[in-house]
Amino acid sequence: MKSTADVVIVGGGCMGCSVAWHLAQRGITNVVLLEREPQLAAGSTGKNAGGVRHQFSHSANIALSIESIAMIARFEEIVGTPIDFHQDGYLFLLSKTADVAAFLKNVELQKRHGVDVRWLSAKEAAALAPGLDVTGVKGATYCPTDGVADPNGVTMGFAKGAQAKGVAIVRETEVTGIQLARGRVAEVRTSHGTIATPIVVNAAGPWAKSIGRMLGVDVPVEPERRHIFIASPPGGGSWDDPVNAGKVPRSKLLVIDFETTFYFHREGGGLLFGMGDPDERPGFDITVRWDFLPKVIDVAMRRLPALADAVVSHAWAGLYEMTPDHNPIIGPSSDVEGFFTIAGFSGHGFQHAPAAGRILADLIAGRDPQFDLSPFGLDRFMSRAVRGEGNVV
Ligand SMILES: Cc1cc2nc3c(=O)[nH]c(=O)nc-3n(C[C@H](O)[C@H](O)[C@H](O)COP(=O)(O)OP(=O)(O)OC[C@H]3O[C@@H](n4cnc5c(N)ncnc54)[C@H](O)[C@@H]3O)c2cc1C
Repeated sequence: MKSTADVVIVGGGCMGCSVAWHLAQRGITNVVLLEREPQLAAGSTGKNAGGVRHQFSHSANIALSIESIAMIARFEEIVGTPIDFHQDGYLFLLSKTADVAAFLKNVELQKRHGVDVRWLSAKEAAALAPGLDVTGVKGATYCPTDGVADPNGVTMGFAKGAQAKGVAIVRETEVTGIQLARGRVAEVRTSHGTIATPIVVNAAGPWAKSIGRMLGVDVPVEPERRHIFIASPPGGGSWDDPVNAGKVPRSKLLVIDFETTFYFHREGGGLLFGMGDPDERPGFDITVRWDFLPKVIDVAMRRLPALADAVVSHAWAGLYEMTPDHNPIIGPSSDVEGFFTIAGFSGHGFQHAPAAGRILADLIAGRDPQFDLSPFGLDRFMSRAVRGEGNVV
């Protein structure tokens, strides 16, 4: 392992790898990315549903999406790796009057950003998604350029591209401490030795708080378990088999029942679905709670009756990385010079990794990122009440 670097990145998820790639594009290649697991994308990134959407309630997140999705759409051309991107849209179903009012405002905001987003009646929503039961739905929003991509492909694409330009990616190496000299970052301690560096990037996802703690910096990111289940049709086979016609969508349209947070999309021959558990408390446990499945099915079969007798073939759980306002932290610490954070994306980070990595790389390179980062500053939690992101699913 190198003993000196211009930048050390902690964490080999989509964020760390995106920063590494964008730094390398700017000619900053004396960079070491440290990942404690044997593989990259072993944290939240490897557990995520791959959803990519413009439909956020906060202007800054919509801007991140517009830039990120433009890059995701041309990822193979720009980065050189295929990522199985399908722009089959996101459909939000709204059953509460308050949600209808909030989403009408969101649609206006998204349109002001130039996003092609449409307000639909329940009947129009049902026509988009075969098998959907829209009982109680008061309205829906649909953006045809939202979609689903492969998180592993994005992460590995960035990592390989960065490595090709000279970035060192070191696995099975844990960051155990960070040393300061005269109030600024000076050295990173790891399970395999030390690296002298003036800049550390905290890209440790749900573990970002522990990296901040090494420097006495409060990085308010809490881990929260979320489940994903995969369902096959009764008797096995694919949902595309003629016997299952009309039971579920054939496209990769991502449908979200906003009130319950139940969502689903097609995944190969199966169907991927998930839902937040309002009783879940912060913690790092990612054991699958099979006792949660009946609660999900209860909700799910009301919206997608085919799930009532589907076979749940496997499941996993991963961690959302929640901040108090559900917006990420992107930028420097004002207490410790040379310490940057890119974390806390609160369950929607995969899709924002391309733009967020570009912005942080610009900051580190001393360029103007051309992005108002005030909603994402680390200091925002100290000073004032903040308006955050409302569209968390
Ligand atoms: C079930 C689920 C579904 C999701 N669905 C979506 C979705 O549809 N769309 C979307 O955009 N987002 C989704 N997300 C959120 C998304 O996965 C995250 O926002 C994103 O992956 C965060 O990436 P990251 O690189 O910040 O974190 P991670 O991928 O967690 O990477 C952090 C890395 O840091 C490493 N690390 C931690 N501490 C240390 C240390 N001390 N030394 C060395 N390495 C260390 C970890 O091992 C880990 O690999 C989902 C998340 C979950 C759990």
